[in-house]
Formats: sequence, C-alpha cells, structure tokens
Amino acid sequence: MRNKLALLLVAVLVAMSLVACSNGEKKEEVINKEGENSEKLQVVTSFTIIEDMAKEIGGDLVDVYNLVPTGTDPHEYSPLPNDIKAATDADVLFYNGLNLEGGEHGWFAKMIDATSQDWAVTYELAEDIEPMFITSEDGKEEEINPHAFLDPVVGIEMTKKVRDAFIEVDPDNEATYEENAEIYLEKLIEIHEQYQTFIEKIPEENRTLVTSERAYQYLAARYGLREGYIWAIDTEENGSPEQIKSLLTFLEETSPPVLFIETNVDKRPMETISRESGIEIFGEIFSDEIGNPGEEGDTYLKYLQYNIDVIYQGLKGK
Ligand SMILES: [Zn+2]
Repeated sequence: MRNKLALLLVAVLVAMSLVACSNGEKKEEVINKEGENSEKLQVVTSFTIIEDMAKEIGGDLVDVYNLVPTGTDPHEYSPLPNDIKAATDADVLFYNGLNLEGGEHGWFAKMIDATSQDWAVTYELAEDIEPMFITSEDGKEEEINPHAFLDPVVGIEMTKKVRDAFIEVDPDNEATYEENAEIYLEKLIEIHEQYQTFIEKIPEENRTLVTSERAYQYLAARYGLREGYIWAIDTEENGSPEQIKSLLTFLEETSPPVLFIETNVDKRPMETISRESGIEIFGEIFSDEIGNPGEEGDTYLKYLQYNIDVIYQGLKGK
C-alpha cells in the first residue's frame, strides 16, 4: 500500500513537471517568433472529402476540424455546439456548395450566419463547376446535383481552390501550399487518366453504371457512362414502388452486366432490384463520404481509385 502511494506520488510529480516543461517550451516558441502567431491555421471543413483535401494541401501548417463525419448525411446536418465553436474560431472554412450542404438556406449557411464568422474566409470549392441538374420526383422542379466531387477532374478544380484559399489567408506560406498542391494534383491527374483508360476498355454495351442514388451524374458525363438509379437524391423517398418499377424498365432496355450499391445507403431497395431483375449486385462503391480511418478508401485519392477499380471489374465483362 505504501509502495503504491509512493509510486502514485512520483507519477503525479512527473506529470506536473511535464506540464511545466511543455508550458515553458511553448512560451519560448512564442517569444522566438517575436509577436508572430505561432499557432497553426485553424481550418473547418463541411465533410470528409474536403477534410482530406485540406489536410493534404495544408500539411503541418494547418489544424483541420471536420463537421459531417463518415456515416452521417452531408445533405442534412445539425451542427453540434463544438462545431459552432470551431466555425467561430476558424481562420478559413471550406464547403462544397452546389447544394450539398443544403444551399443558401441549408445547415452550413445557417451555421455561418449564426456565428460572427466572415463569409470572406468561407470558400465554396465547387463554385466554378458547371452545375448539373436532377429532376424532382414529381418531375416539376429541377435541382442542382451536388455530387460533382465523384469526378476526379472536379477534384482537381477543388484542390486548386483549397490551395488558392490557403495562399490568400496565409500568404507567408505560399511556397509550401504550392508544393503540397502540386504533388497532390499530379496524383489526381494520374487517377483521371486511369478513369479514361479503364472506361475505354469496358465494352460499349456494358457502360451502364447502376446505383441507388443518382450521385454519379458528373462522373458518368465525364467518361461516357449511362446512368441507372433508384432515386435522384438521398433527401427524397428512397425506394418507392414507382422508383423500383422505373429502374426495372431501364434495366430491361440496357441490360447492364451488374448493379452497384453505395456504402452509405439503405441496401434493401437495390436488393429488391437485384431479385426482380436477376442482375447481381457486384459490390459497394463510395459516394458521399470517404472510408473510416484505417479502412478501405480512407482518403479522397483512395476513394477515387477504389471506385474505378470496382466499376471496371464489374463492367468489363468476361
Ligand atoms: Zn448523396
């Protein structure tokens, strides 16, 4: 018992001296830089893909706080108290735009308006992307399809926006942001070229990508794939009898070799489609989020790579 107490006392003393030490170091660091802010750039991102891009381009110069985690829908989200605090304190904020975060009256815009945060340091990464439209279920309204980031070429444009934003708010470190972005952009260009070569290798009659949500519109248009889907966007009804019927008709007309299913959707509607059509579900692909850390597709580059690998394997035929 006495030994244990003594050990505990030693542990407490060691811990205290460590705290004292790190405080001392921190003070020195600040003094050395003579009034310069020694803290990292505080970055807030709306969802996982942008979080990953910001980490890649910002490297050691930034701390990234992400809002919508993997497993949560970025179309509809309620910011938590910590999110609002991070957004208030941020030096720079990134969001997708194209209505991913609900548009000008959506959760992200409301959150920024509720803080004292400046829209001038809040960057919409898909700002210069030509929007594509989806028609609402009743066929009356057109809405913007937010899923441009599934197209690697759009990823390239978004990366440039991140780079330019960092340079704008932190011009002292321009060279580092340029360098990090250049390495990253090279990898994205390589992936884009792979999308081209792989899809060209798929027989023309097999080039139909069937998924639950119509999330692959930009990707399909870029590389010449036909799109089949159950519902247009996650925020509408997912898998109504009319939606199922409509996709089954499309499958009769196009007879694709396989079906795909996204990692983040209810699997049952596509399973119904598979049963009714006799076409197998080949595998999962990513749409609204990257994988959890340490799992498949846990960076944007791996996410893009994984998708083209699965799409190619499924559609290439025998
Ligand atoms: Zn979606």
